[in-house]
Amino acid sequence: MHFFGYKGKKFYAEGVSVERIAKEAGTPVFIYSHRTLARHFKAFESAFKKVPHLVCYSVKANSNTAVLKTFASMGGGFDIVSAGELFRVIRAGGDPSKTVFSGVGKRDEEIEYALKTGILMLNSESPQELRAIDRIAGRLKKKAGVAIRVNPDVDPLTHPYISTGLKENKFGVETEEAVREYVYAKEGLENLDLIGVDCHIGSQITELSPFTDALKKTRALIGVLRKEGIAVRYLNMGGGLGITYREENPPHPSAYGEEVLRQTRGLDVTLIFEPGRNIVGNAGVLATRVIYTKKGSRKNFIITDAAMNDLPRPSLYGSYHAIKPVVVSGPADVVADVVGPICESGDFLAKGRELPAVKPGDLLAIMSAGAYCFSMSSNYNSRPRPAEVMVKGSEFFVIRKRETMEDLVRGEVLPRRLFPGKGD
Ligand SMILES: *Cc1c(COP(=O)(O)O)cnc(C)c1O
Repeated sequence: MHFFGYKGKKFYAEGVSVERIAKEAGTPVFIYSHRTLARHFKAFESAFKKVPHLVCYSVKANSNTAVLKTFASMGGGFDIVSAGELFRVIRAGGDPSKTVFSGVGKRDEEIEYALKTGILMLNSESPQELRAIDRIAGRLKKKAGVAIRVNPDVDPLTHPYISTGLKENKFGVETEEAVREYVYAKEGLENLDLIGVDCHIGSQITELSPFTDALKKTRALIGVLRKEGIAVRYLNMGGGLGITYREENPPHPSAYGEEVLRQTRGLDVTLIFEPGRNIVGNAGVLATRVIYTKKGSRKNFIITDAAMNDLPRPSLYGSYHAIKPVVVSGPADVVADVVGPICESGDFLAKGRELPAVKPGDLLAIMSAGAYCFSMSSNYNSRPRPAEVMVKGSEFFVIRKRETMEDLVRGEVLPRRLFPGKGD
C-alpha cells in the first residue's frame, strides 16, 4: 500500500499535489513518499520480529542519501555492492556494523575500505575473492566477517535479466564448491571469520516457491557446514520479493516471513534480508510534462520531458509502469506510445497505453518509480538528471537538486597541449 492517489481530480503524494511539486521543482521530477517508505520498511521488519534478524536495505534500488537516512533512523542495516554505496551509507548516518557487502567483482581498495569501516560481513562470490579478502584482512590485522554466496540453482520464475540463482548466472558459487571452500578457508585462511551463508536468487519474485526451494537448500548446507565444524551464525536470504506494477500479486512480506520462519525453525541463526524493490518500488513516482503529441498513420505518440535516461526499466527490460494523469480531464480515449526526446527507438516509457486525451503542458505520473529508476539513470543525450523530492505529510523537500549544464561537463578537461593554439 502506498500514499499516492487522487483527491477529487488531482493526483497527490501524501498531502501535496503533484501539480504543485511540478510547478515548484520543475519536471521531470522523482517524488518519494516518506510515509510509504517507512510503512514498507516496518512491514518487512515486523514480519521477523519474533526471531533475531537484520533488515539490510539494498542500496542499489534507490541510493539517495535521504532515502538511506530514513531507514538508518529506523534502525535498518544496508546491503551494498560497491565502495560508493558504502560511502553513501556512512554519509546518511548508516551503521557499517549492520552493513553487508555483495557483488562479484569487489576490488582490493573496496574490500580494504569496507574492512576499515568495520562492516558486518562480506558476501564472497568466488574462491579468488575469498583469498583476496583473507590477504587484505591479514595486512590490516583484522578478522573479516564472511559469508559465501551460494548459488542454489533455483529458478526464481522472473525476467531472465534479474534472475541470479541459476547455475548459468554469474553470481555466487555452486553448493558443492561452497562446502569445499568453507572447509579450505577454515583450515587455511586464518584472517576470515566464517559466520554466514548467503543466497540471493533474483528480483521481482512474485511466488513463494522459489524462496522455499532456496531455504531448503541453504538449511541443508548449514547442516553440512556445522558438521564440518563451521559455526554458521547468520543466514542471509537476500532480497527479491516483488511488487505490483500492473496485476502481479506478490506475497505480502508477512506471508513471506511466515514461510521463512517455517523453513528455518530451530536453525538457530540470525536472519538477514536484503530487500530493495519491495520497500522503495511503490514509494516513488516520476512526474513528467507532455511536450508534444503526434498522430502517425499507425500510432499515436505522447512525447514527454522524461526519457529512458531518467527511467530506463521499460527500455531495458520491457517493464510496465502504470501512467496516471496528474489532473483528470476525462475518460481514456487515446491509445498511444509514451516516449521521451532521446534519439533511440528504444526510448519509451509505455507502449500502446490507453490514456485520456492529453495536450502539451499536461502532467503525467509514472508510477512505481522508486526502485531501479533514478539509481539507473544516466546523462545520455547530455540530459541533466531530474530532481528528487521527498514528501512528508503536507510538505515536500528537495533531496537532490536537478542537475545543471555545468554538472554535465564536471570533470571533463581540455588539455592545452592537446589543442595548441596561437601563442602556445
Ligand atoms: C539487487 C540485490 C538485492 C535487492 O533485490 P530486490 O529485488 O530489489 O529486493 C539484494 N541482494 C543482492 C545481492 C542484490 O544484488
